[in-house]
Amino acid sequence: MDLFQLSRANSLSEAIAASATSTTAQQGAEVRVLAGGTTLLDLMKLNVERPARVIDISRLPLNAVEETQDGGVKIGATVRNADLAQHPLIRERYAVLSQALLAGASAQLRNMATTGGNLLQRTRCIYFRDTAMPCNKREPGSGCAAINGFNRTLAILGTSDACIASHPSDMNVALTALGATIHVEGSKGRRSIAIDDFYLLPGTTPHRETVLEPGDLITHVTLPPVPAGARSLYVKLRDRASYEFALASAAVVVKVADGRIAHVRVALGGVGTKPWHAVEAEARLDGNAPDEPAFRQAADAALAGAKPQSQNAFKVELARRCLIHALTQVTQAI
Ligand code: SF4
Repeated sequence: MDLFQLSRANSLSEAIAASATSTTAQQGAEVRVLAGGTTLLDLMKLNVERPARVIDISRLPLNAVEETQDGGVKIGATVRNADLAQHPLIRERYAVLSQALLAGASAQLRNMATTGGNLLQRTRCIYFRDTAMPCNKREPGSGCAAINGFNRTLAILGTSDACIASHPSDMNVALTALGATIHVEGSKGRRSIAIDDFYLLPGTTPHRETVLEPGDLITHVTLPPVPAGARSLYVKLRDRASYEFALASAAVVVKVADGRIAHVRVALGGVGTKPWHAVEAEARLDGNAPDEPAFRQAADAALAGAKPQSQNAFKVELARRCLIHALTQVTQAI
């Protein structure tokens, strides 16, 4: 692990000014922001991240969960995952988010990990975390060891010839199903970014994972109100019952009125290079009766673009079944 300078930011503007001195906000940034540290410190110990300077923002006043005027919710960037999962507003109105958070990591990690940090969680591709191996995401142009290597856990949607890494977060899948907006403050002012636009597909530049620029700091996330009568659910399938990343997961928000689906949002985890908003599935469900044929058609549509690798073709059927199960369960309760 390289030597680095650690300092604590006393204000948002101080943190922004410090991180703006980095030439990139992506892989290889010279300045990194620290909140819970559950991803960053791991990667620094592995020499995957080697910032010269680390800015601790954990004491900035960004740790509130508040109701917004429109009946939605505002979640501060440093709200801990454990606190968010147990917050009454989240448990009552955004069950899918609480469930996704509690399905992630371990209790100890959830006590430390923050909302902003989880949004920026890095892939668990084993070659990304091993500096002896080629990896286009860690070192652009070096190649991808996973395409002809161990790729059982990696992505089948949104991949490219340069990278097939799967996005690891559960929380972000739920935030995608809930239509979250990510609010950023930077040296060029404030921006609000829909979560669908926040993450980048790997394409030829897998080291660029988000639209963040140097100096950009995530300040909070907002969620719109869930329509009255809607229900939500997160289903996660994995190799073991706890402390494991998703092989496939589904976050669904559904409202049924007069025997028809009146509102639906669907996102998939474990299968995409980013939290996967399954718009094709939503189009198949919207306005239809909530029955098994509709759910099967929606799942087929969601996975129609899947491109399996040598070891992960099973994920296509696993994700289909995961989504059908989630839709069945959530509508049975309505
Ligand atoms: Fe690196 Fe992506 Fe290939 Fe994994 S899949 S080795 S992260 S380029």
